[in-house]
Amino acid sequence: MGEWSRRAAGLVLLLAWAACAAAPAPIERIDPPSWWVGFESRTLELMVHGPGAAALAASVDYPGVRLVRTTRADSPNYLFLDLEIDPGAAPGRVPLTFRRGGRVVARHAYPLEARRPGSRERQGFDTRDVIYLVMPDRFANGDPSNDQPPGTLDHVDRRDGGARHGGDLAGIAAHLDYLERLGVTQLWLTPVVENAQPAFSYHGYAITDHYRIDPRYGRNEDYRELARAARERGIGLIADIVVNHIGSQHWWMRDLPARDWLSTADPRVRTNHHHSTVQDPYAAEVDRRQYIDGWFSDTMPDLHPMNPQLGTYLVQNAIWWIEYADLSGLRIDTYSYSDKRFMADFTGRVRREYPRLNLVGEEWRNDPALVAYWQAGKSNPDGYVSNLPSLMDFPLQAALLGGLRDPDRWNSGLPALYERLAEDFLYPDPRHLVIFADNHDTDRLFLEVGRDEALWRMAMAWVATMRGIPQILYGTELLMANDRPGDDGDKRRDFPGGWPGDAADGFTGRGLEPRAAAAQAYLRTLLNWRRGAPAVHAGTLRHYAPEDGVYVYFRALAGETVMVALNKADAERRLALARFRESLPGPVVGRDVVSGAAVELNDSLTLPARSATVIDIR
Ligand code: CA
Repeated sequence: MGEWSRRAAGLVLLLAWAACAAAPAPIERIDPPSWWVGFESRTLELMVHGPGAAALAASVDYPGVRLVRTTRADSPNYLFLDLEIDPGAAPGRVPLTFRRGGRVVARHAYPLEARRPGSRERQGFDTRDVIYLVMPDRFANGDPSNDQPPGTLDHVDRRDGGARHGGDLAGIAAHLDYLERLGVTQLWLTPVVENAQPAFSYHGYAITDHYRIDPRYGRNEDYRELARAARERGIGLIADIVVNHIGSQHWWMRDLPARDWLSTADPRVRTNHHHSTVQDPYAAEVDRRQYIDGWFSDTMPDLHPMNPQLGTYLVQNAIWWIEYADLSGLRIDTYSYSDKRFMADFTGRVRREYPRLNLVGEEWRNDPALVAYWQAGKSNPDGYVSNLPSLMDFPLQAALLGGLRDPDRWNSGLPALYERLAEDFLYPDPRHLVIFADNHDTDRLFLEVGRDEALWRMAMAWVATMRGIPQILYGTELLMANDRPGDDGDKRRDFPGGWPGDAADGFTGRGLEPRAAAAQAYLRTLLNWRRGAPAVHAGTLRHYAPEDGVYVYFRALAGETVMVALNKADAERRLALARFRESLPGPVVGRDVVSGAAVELNDSLTLPARSATVIDIR
C-alpha cells in the first residue's frame, strides 16, 4: 500500500478530477484513507471532504460493496457515506463516483485491503509484559533532517522544555536492541500523529490530523515498520489515542462538519477537572456538564462524540491504526472526560473487532473507587457498564510513593501502601491494571524519592513483582529526575545518548555516572528475570502487614513462589520466617534474583538496611 497521507490521497483525487479541470476539486480527502475486508462490523463510514461535497451524489460499483446511506451534516463541504462490505468481497480498488446535477465531477479508487492472518485474534499486552513509555520527541533523534520540515509552525530548541527537540521514530527504531536487552516487551509511545500546533506540539495530545504521522517523527510507513521491527524482537507497540479533544489547528476547525461536532465552540468554557462529578450522587448537573464539555485548554477543543458521524470516525480511526500498524494495544488519554456512554460504545466496538486486544484508560485519580468504576465487569450502582479492560493504577502509584517516602505510622508509609491494596476488592480485575512509579505527566520517581537510590530500587522491585502490568518511564532506569517539580518540560528531558554530541549515552553506557549504570543493570536484571517468572505473571498475591519498616509479600503459582521483602529501615533486619508459614510451609532454598546467590529460607532471613530482596523459589 502506498502513502495514504492527506496529500497523496488529495493528489489521486486531483488526477481523477483532471478531466474536468478549471473548477476546484470537489473532494480533498476521504477518511479513513483505506479499509479492510473481514471486520465484524460490515459498515464503513467514509468522511468525504471538499468544497460543496454535501451537494454531490455518490455511487459505488464493486461486487460485495454497497452504498447503504448518505448523510449530510451542517457544513456544505462534507458528505458521509456508509458502505456495507460483504465478508466475501475481494480486496481491490473500490470505484467511487461523485456526480453533481447528474454529471460526474470526481472519481476515486478506494483501497480495500486484505487483513493480516490472525489479525482479529491478536494478543494484547498483558501481565507477562513490561511496558516502556517513550515520549518520541525526547528519546532519540535518528533523523536530523526531519526536525523542522517546511511549513511546521513550532520551533526546535533543545534548551527549551516546551519546544521540539527532534526525536523521532527512526531514533526509536535504532534503539530497539537496547529495549530488548532491558527486558521491555511493550512500547507505549505518546501520540505520534500530526500536531501542527504553533507551540507545545511536542507532547502530541493536540491532534491536527488523525490519519497522519507527524512528519517530524516520520511517515506512516515508518510507524508501521517500527511496529514490525519491534515485534521481531518480541516487543508490541501500544498507540496513545485521544478521543476527548483535538488540537486547535485541526483541519476540522477551519470548517466544522456539524454544529454539534464540538461540545462547545467557546474556548473559554474549560473543564473543571472534577472527575468525581461522573459518579457523585450529589453532583450538580452544571458541574458534570462542565467537566465533560469544557475544553481541556484553549489549544485543545473538546469533541462531542455523541454526534454519530464523529463517534464512528473516532472508532474507525482507532481500528485503522491497529490494523494498519499491527498494534498490540491502546492507551486512551483523558478517559473519563468524554461522554461515558460514548466511551462504552467506543471500547465495545474496538474490542468486538479485537477481542484479545488490551486497552488501558487514563483516569488520573488516586481513589480506587473512582478508577474501578471504569473497568469492564464492574457492577456500578448507577448501572453504568464499561468495556474498558484496564486502567492506569494511579491510586497505587501515589500509595507507593507515600509508602517509600513517608514515615511508617498506622496510617502512613508502608502500612498505608499495604492498606491501599485492600481496596482491590473494588476492581473486577485488579491483576490487569497497569502499575507504575512515574509517567510523562508526573514528577520523576528519582525526584519523588529524594534522589535516594535505595528507595528507587525498592520502587522498581515493587513494580516488577506486584500484581498488575508494569510500566517504566524512559530514563527512569538511569535515575533521571526533573529538577523543578511540576515542570513538564523538565520531566520530559532528553534521554542521554539520543542526540549526537551528548556527554553521556544511556544506550551504550558510555559516560554514565556509576550509580546510573548500576541502576540500569539492576532494572535489566529484574525485568529479564520477570520474563520467565510465571508466579509474577499469574500467581496469587499474599502480603503481610508491615512491621519495623519491613513489608513482605509473596506471589505464588504451582511450582513457583516469589518472596519480596522491602526493608525501609536504616538498620539490617533479621526477619523471623515463622510468621510467613502460609506462604513458606517449610524450609526451602531460593535464589536471589538480583545477585543470583542461593538463599536458605529456614528460620530467618537477614535483610540489609534499606534494601529490596526478591527471592525466586522453584
Ligand atoms: Ca528528527
